[in-house]
Amino acid sequence: MLIGVVADDMTGASDVALMLARGGLTTVQTIGVPQGDLPSAEAVVVALKSRTAPVEDAVAQSVAAARALRAAGAQRLLFKYCSTFDSTPQGNIGPVADALMDEVGADIALVCPAFPAAGRTIYQGYLFVNGEPLNESAMRDHPLTPMRDASLRRLMAAQSAHRVGLLALATIRKGAQAARTAIAALKQEGFRYAVADAIDDEDLRILAAAIYDQPLITGGSGIALGLPALLRKGAMHTASPFDLPPGKAAILAGSCSAMTRRQIAAAQAAGVPAFAIDPLALPGGEITAGTLAEFALAAPSPALIYSGSEPERVAKVQSVLGREAAGAMIEHLLADTARLLVERGVTRLVVAGGETSGAVVQGLGIRALSIGPEIDPGVPWMRVIDGPEAVRGLTITLKSGNFGAEDFFVKALAD
Ligand code: ADP
Repeated sequence: MLIGVVADDMTGASDVALMLARGGLTTVQTIGVPQGDLPSAEAVVVALKSRTAPVEDAVAQSVAAARALRAAGAQRLLFKYCSTFDSTPQGNIGPVADALMDEVGADIALVCPAFPAAGRTIYQGYLFVNGEPLNESAMRDHPLTPMRDASLRRLMAAQSAHRVGLLALATIRKGAQAARTAIAALKQEGFRYAVADAIDDEDLRILAAAIYDQPLITGGSGIALGLPALLRKGAMHTASPFDLPPGKAAILAGSCSAMTRRQIAAAQAAGVPAFAIDPLALPGGEITAGTLAEFALAAPSPALIYSGSEPERVAKVQSVLGREAAGAMIEHLLADTARLLVERGVTRLVVAGGETSGAVVQGLGIRALSIGPEIDPGVPWMRVIDGPEAVRGLTITLKSGNFGAEDFFVKALAD
């Protein structure tokens, strides 16, 4: 295994798995810390649901994943988090990175969530989303990890026990050797993290060349862009894309992100039958998984079931139900709905939302996925290769809330 990846959520895992597969590595994604033998592949991505877990739990899961990957021969590790650095002042990016550094004996690690293809760029250590500073983007109002600062150095330093330095664009543009030298200098000065600027794919390729041989890399899927060629140094091959199956499809969207809300509107405008979940109707049992599955199965064409609404409405729901309880209730509802849909013959499932995807994949009991064709940057179709009989062969896509173009749902439903 050339590289083992510890990913802090489900959609992030498929995003980085796609990047590695597109670069020519045979890639498998496992759900949760793999038990027993790992599937054989050049890249194994372990999808955790640790982004918003209690800190100790996130650290324990991540260290267990790292141990399993290293025991299976992983030569180096990538800790993959969100390209919008989704976290709170307590973590979990800092504490998990600290623990993984100790686990592999690394003395400095890169911090680079940049993903220019999805509009995430870093300059002077500040993270931008489609040109807006992170704290002025829609991430400001994320239901679970509202991001109120754009300085990655400050964000990381608040969460980590170590000093955080900057690897600036001007250095990176001088090439991989200059970047290596600068990282070594930061290490000398007592920094244990280097936040790296990157505003286009070429910056990411230079960074990859500067750090690919380190035992631990941390970042978004963008940092994986240049890794396959460097790790393999041999003949490239492309991952075998698979054909989409015939049969019924459905969309389950639990994300409130701005892009998902636009995708929902676009799908409705295109005539996709849609059911809006009112979270305040959940405690009374007015909407159940049965209701939702019935709606999707009875619809004349593939249907969309969604819960997301604008920040004011989310705040209202959270004030009545509690932030975590509301999230968990909706996640469980969508996971139960997914189970009913698959039991009743749905062969293609589109899931929107990182936490939501984690809940759905766990609810379905999926253990491993192979990576197939890309729908939009960072979002592949995947096929279930390990899990309960009823879900084997299911084709699924797990979309991070802000990923995909406005017509993502419409495209995903097309044959
Ligand atoms: P994203 O990828 O956009 O971050 P996630 O699924 O990770 O999406 O997070 C969205 C969270 O918000 C989930 O926990 C989900 O259950 C919760 N949620 C969804 N709709 C609502 C709503 N209307 N009110 C409150 N919370 C919601």
